[in-house]
Amino acid sequence: MSDSRVGADFSRYLLDRMRQLEERNLTLREQKDRAEGEKRIIENQKLKFEREVRKLRSELERLKTGPLVVGTVQDVLDDDRVVVKSSTGPRFVVNVSQLIEEDIKPGIRVALNQQSFAVMFALPTSQDPAVFGMEIEEAPCIEFDQIGGLESQISEIRETVELPLKRPDLFEKVGIEPPKGVLLYGPPGTGKTLLAKAVAHSTEASFLRVVGSELVQKYIGEGARLVRELFELAQKRSPAIIFIDELDAIGSRRIDSATSGDREVQRTLMQLLAEMDGFDPRGEVKLIAATNRADMLDQALLRPGRFDRLIYVPLPDRVGREAVLGIHTRCMNLHEDVDLRRVADASEGASGADLKAIATEAGMFAVREERDMVYHQDFEHARAKIMDSQPEREQENFPDVSFGQYA
Ligand code: ATP
Repeated sequence: MSDSRVGADFSRYLLDRMRQLEERNLTLREQKDRAEGEKRIIENQKLKFEREVRKLRSELERLKTGPLVVGTVQDVLDDDRVVVKSSTGPRFVVNVSQLIEEDIKPGIRVALNQQSFAVMFALPTSQDPAVFGMEIEEAPCIEFDQIGGLESQISEIRETVELPLKRPDLFEKVGIEPPKGVLLYGPPGTGKTLLAKAVAHSTEASFLRVVGSELVQKYIGEGARLVRELFELAQKRSPAIIFIDELDAIGSRRIDSATSGDREVQRTLMQLLAEMDGFDPRGEVKLIAATNRADMLDQALLRPGRFDRLIYVPLPDRVGREAVLGIHTRCMNLHEDVDLRRVADASEGASGADLKAIATEAGMFAVREERDMVYHQDFEHARAKIMDSQPEREQENFPDVSFGQYA
């Protein structure tokens, strides 16, 4: 074999080898790119998982930290220290965390570290209605024509609550202070809440309803704080009507031999009296209270200047009962044999709430039998059902309460 032939073979071999190596190189480069892409994806996932682990760890830490104590700042000392009263009672001089941005001033609620009682952060004012179950309605949609048989009570409540809110100038001209509050008393279910709601509607006032028993709290001073916040909230939402239902829960006559629980209720009552004395009769906040037990109320509440009018809301008489039945059957499909007067005649002693129940029950009889019309006998059956299930009412619980008696 000549030298030139060997050279040509060798160079062909080299060329082939080079091509093979280039192809191999290409494949390896592709594999490398793929691996790098996968590496990036895995790194991203790793970062994501690390973030998640960090988040879960911090959540775990957060959940493991002990509860903070709620306290109220009583005094701010010069050197970043404050006097706080913890909700369990004692007062402490404590440090304030440097991280707090809010202005720490006397009266605000704060969260305290359990060990050092240092102020950790300021709490929002608890004027959230949910905090103590207050019902708030912007001008509730109850109108006076939805109340039956209480004409004199309606005109009295309009005069004492609506007039001062709508025409304060009349009182200024005459030079008298308008009434601050009205007490509605009488048997249950006679329309006391309805009256308060209707007057809030006609004056376009916010309606703040709180039940007296909700103002009775476990810890000392809490009830009084709620009363204070209730009036502050009403001021903010003015014109407003505060409606305290079951006033007897906090307004019962004070007695000398009181337990610590009684004393807390008395403190709440005193705060209520103080708020009533403090608020401007010409202002846009009016107080309406209701009770089934006016005879139990403390004399201090019943003197003029606190509740200026005591309005008795009685069980409806025959005419009243017919009117209430008329209201609650307005939207019902009644047969022409229905005689509401006879139903009213036969339901002596029924309250407005009972009469509403009779109308609803009569409708239920029709529904049960898949009728689209309600007959008189449905009302008879409903009346018997509702009235027979009622315990005898004790009329003597509702004596005629008057200023003269208590002043
Ligand atoms: P309580 O003292 O138990 O709180 P209350 O006197 O405030 O009772 P309301 O809550 O006003 O009674 O009335 C209960 C229901 O009875 C009302 O929702 C209403 O449907 C009906 N009712 C009571 N009185 C009347 C009335 N005079 N006219 C029309 N409906 C009435």
